[in-house]
Amino acid sequence: MAAKCWKRKRLKLVFVKLFFMKSNDELVEYLRQHGWLKSERVTRAFKNVDRALFVPRELKEYAYEDMPLPILHGQTISQPLVVAVSLEALDVFPGMRVLEVGAGSGYQAALLSEIVGKNGVVYSVERIPELCEYARERLAKWLNVIVIHGDGSKGLPDKAPFDRIIVTAACPKIPKPLVQQLKPGGKMIAPVEAVFGQELLLIEKGTDGSGRVESQSLLPVAFVPLIGEHGFNEKQFTE
Ligand code: SAM
Repeated sequence: MAAKCWKRKRLKLVFVKLFFMKSNDELVEYLRQHGWLKSERVTRAFKNVDRALFVPRELKEYAYEDMPLPILHGQTISQPLVVAVSLEALDVFPGMRVLEVGAGSGYQAALLSEIVGKNGVVYSVERIPELCEYARERLAKWLNVIVIHGDGSKGLPDKAPFDRIIVTAACPKIPKPLVQQLKPGGKMIAPVEAVFGQELLLIEKGTDGSGRVESQSLLPVAFVPLIGEHGFNEKQFTE
């Protein structure tokens, strides 16, 4: 009985191992074949940025799996599928000014950097100082990314306006300062609390100067919380 059980366990392990993706190219191919990666420029960025560089050393063997992974301080590097859907919907072009809220590992900032190119700039705000360091070390060769320590729920008024904004932590509602700092016609991606769980929203600001936005839901998601003045109160998660 015990031998049978062990055999079954071993079979399960072999099965899981067989389906592990072993390289960044395999991960990109998987995202492309399933239709999550669509455009040439986002696919190229995924090819040029090796996810393993942004994953902690002890988790490298899972770097090419389509799953979020822990980094530091209970935070995560997001699931590749969610990053692909976000970047495709954000519709980023070379030369754009982009704000990312929640640098985390720095992975998504590197992808954005590849897309905006040398004439564009990516500001990435992170509230945890150790993660700012973690991201900066890994982003050393992406010269158009600036990692800033602070509360990204307030945006970066002195660097605004932005063509695109992407929030990578769950918001109770769309943060007003971020909408204000978006250019007319600009686009923003943010995971926002919904009746059941969270929805990844694509938010588009009108071009008429009224500041009105329209939003559409792309995907149900599960992000860590946005902690800050226009996010959640930290006490809600520590008590
Ligand atoms: N974009 C990241 C990546 O590619 O690895 C993943 C980000 S992780 C899912 C969310 C990050 O948002 C965490 O690092 C967390 O510390 C950060 N965060 C939460 N609230 C924040 C705030 N108000 N301002 C800036 N960063 C915040």
